[in-house]
Amino acid sequence: MRKRSGLSRVSLVLALIAALLGGFALSAGAETSIAAPVKPRPSYGLKGVGAASVSGTATNDLKAWAAARLANDVKRRSRTLAITPAPVTKAATTQALAAPAPGTSALVLYDTTGPYGYLGELYAMAVANLAGHFGTVTSKPVSAYTKGMVEQYTATVYIGSTYYGGTVPDAIPAAFYQDVQASSRPVTWIGDNIWSMANTVGIPAFEQKYGWDPTNSYYEVGGSVGNINQVTYKSQQLTRKIPTGYDGGVLHPAILTGAGYPQVTQLAEATDANNGATSPWAIRSGNLTYVGEIPFTYVSESDRVIVFEDLLFDGLAPQTAERHRAFVRLEDISPKSDPTQLRTMADYLYGQKITYGINVIPVYTDPKGVYNNGKAETVSLAQAPQVVSALKYMLSHGAVLMNHGFTHQYSNVNNPYTGVTGDDFEFFRAHVDASDNVIYDGPPAEDSTVWAQSRVTSALAAFTAAGLPKPTLWTTPHYAASAADYKVFGQNYSARLERSLYFAGTLSGQPVNAGRYIGQFFPYAVKDVYGTTVLPENIGNYEPLPYNNHPARLPADLIASAKVNLAVRDGVASFFYHPYYDVAPLQQTVDGIRALGYTFVGPTDLNQ
Ligand SMILES: [Zn+2]
Repeated sequence: MRKRSGLSRVSLVLALIAALLGGFALSAGAETSIAAPVKPRPSYGLKGVGAASVSGTATNDLKAWAAARLANDVKRRSRTLAITPAPVTKAATTQALAAPAPGTSALVLYDTTGPYGYLGELYAMAVANLAGHFGTVTSKPVSAYTKGMVEQYTATVYIGSTYYGGTVPDAIPAAFYQDVQASSRPVTWIGDNIWSMANTVGIPAFEQKYGWDPTNSYYEVGGSVGNINQVTYKSQQLTRKIPTGYDGGVLHPAILTGAGYPQVTQLAEATDANNGATSPWAIRSGNLTYVGEIPFTYVSESDRVIVFEDLLFDGLAPQTAERHRAFVRLEDISPKSDPTQLRTMADYLYGQKITYGINVIPVYTDPKGVYNNGKAETVSLAQAPQVVSALKYMLSHGAVLMNHGFTHQYSNVNNPYTGVTGDDFEFFRAHVDASDNVIYDGPPAEDSTVWAQSRVTSALAAFTAAGLPKPTLWTTPHYAASAADYKVFGQNYSARLERSLYFAGTLSGQPVNAGRYIGQFFPYAVKDVYGTTVLPENIGNYEPLPYNNHPARLPADLIASAKVNLAVRDGVASFFYHPYYDVAPLQQTVDGIRALGYTFVGPTDLNQ
C-alpha cells in the first residue's frame, strides 16, 4: 500500500527479502509492496475455506467417504454387496399429497444416513441454492419421499451421497424409484444408488426406458478412478482438480447400443489425463439426467460444476434464451482510500458506460497501529470528507453503493493478518497455519444475531453520518460469516453479493453445526437456503502476486473463467477489483470480457 505512511525501513527490508524468497512473510508491520502497490490480501473468500470448498472437518471426511464408496463399488462389482431395502412404511404409501407447488418448483432429495450422512445436507443446500434461481425449492431427506411427489414439482434432483449397502440399509423408498421410472417429469440423479433404482424397477424395464445399465456401471476402470481432470461441455473445457485419495471417481455408465434401446445423449464428457480416455460425465435419456459425480467440492472459477449449473435450466426453465452479462465492483474502499484513485476508476468506468458497484467499509481501524507507527488509528467516513466527496462523484458517475462490513476486521487481534480494516475477517475467526494456509476457525465466541445486527446498525449509521445514501446491497468481509449473521444481513439489505458459507442444520432444522459447512458461489442470482437473494460473484479478482498458496490471478485468468462460464446459457461473469491497483489491468479485464460477448450491467440488474 504505497499510500500508507509509517512504513518502516525495517519492514521494507523484511518485505524485500520475503519477496525475493518468493513468498510472503506477512506479519504485523511487514508491508510487502516495494515497486508496485501490491499487498497480499485474502480476497478469495471461498478458497480460504480450503480447496475442498467445505469445512476442514468435512474435507477430512471426503477422503474417508471416497475410500468407502470405492470399496463398496468393488463389492458391488463382485456381487458381494448386500443392500437392505428401505422399509415400506404406511406413511410412505398412504400419505396425502400436498397440492402441486405453483409456478416453477424444484424438489431436492438428499441422503442423511451412514457415517458421512451429513454431507448430504451440504450438497442439498448447494443444489437448493442453485434451484432457487428458478422458483420455489422444497428440500427433504430422500427417506421422507412419499408416492407421487415427483409429479408435484417441475423437476426433481436427488443427490446420492450415501452409498447404500452392507451395514447401511437403503434409505430410498421404493416409491421414489418407481415414480422416477413411471414419470415423464425431469429427474436429475447425481452420484450413487442409481443401480438400486434399476434393481427395484427391474433391469430390463430400466434399460428399455433409459438405454443404459447402472448395475453394470462403476466408478473405477481397471481398479482406478484414473485422473479425470477435464470435463468438456458445450465446447468449453472445464477443470476438475481433486487431490489423489479424495477422488471418488466419476461413474462410467454402461450404455447399451443394441436395437430397441433409446438413445442416450452425452451432455458432458470427462477426460482422463492418464491415458486420454473419455467417458460421459453427464447423460440424459427419457426423463432422467444422470450426473456421474457430486460436483460441489474442489470447485474453482472454471470448474465442472458449471455443467450442472447450466443443466438445471433444462428441467426448470427450458425456454430460457441465451444471455451473457458481466458485473464489476470496486472492493475494500474505506475512509483511508485514495480519493484520486477512486476518481480515476470512476472516470474510466463511466467513460465505458459501465454501471458498477462500489463496496465501502464505513469505518477504518488499525487498533494496533500496524500501519501507523504503533499508534492506534480509527477513521470513519464522516472524518474523511475527501473520500466521501470521491464516493459522491462515483455515485453520480455510474456507481451503486454497497456495504462491505462495518470495519472489515475483528477486535484488536490478527484475524488472520494484522487486525486492520480490509486485511482481516470481521464475522469469522481465522489463522494462517505453518504451511501458509488460511484456516477458518469458525464464528467468534460472541457471534449472535444481536452482535451481527449491532455491527450492521453501526455500519449504516456511519454512512448516514457521512451524508451518503443507505446502501441496499451487502458483501460480507472475506465472504465468511455464521448462519445467524447471514440471516441478519438478509434482513437489512435487499441482497447479498458474494460467495457464502452454508452450514449443516439449515435444511434439517437441527442446531446449526458451525464446523460443518460448504462454500458456494453462483453464476446467476439465487434465493438461497437462508431465504436471501444472493447476487453472483463467480470470477474472483485481480491478484498480481500469489499469497497463502493461492496463485496470482491476472486479467487473462479472469477472462478465461468468464469464457468457460459462457456455458451457462443465462449466466453472469462477476468479478471485483481493488482500486489501489493501476487502472490498466481493469481495462484489460473489461475489454477481454466484453470481447467474449458479455454486456456489463449494474448489480440490481443481476436479479432480473
Ligand atoms: Zn474485502
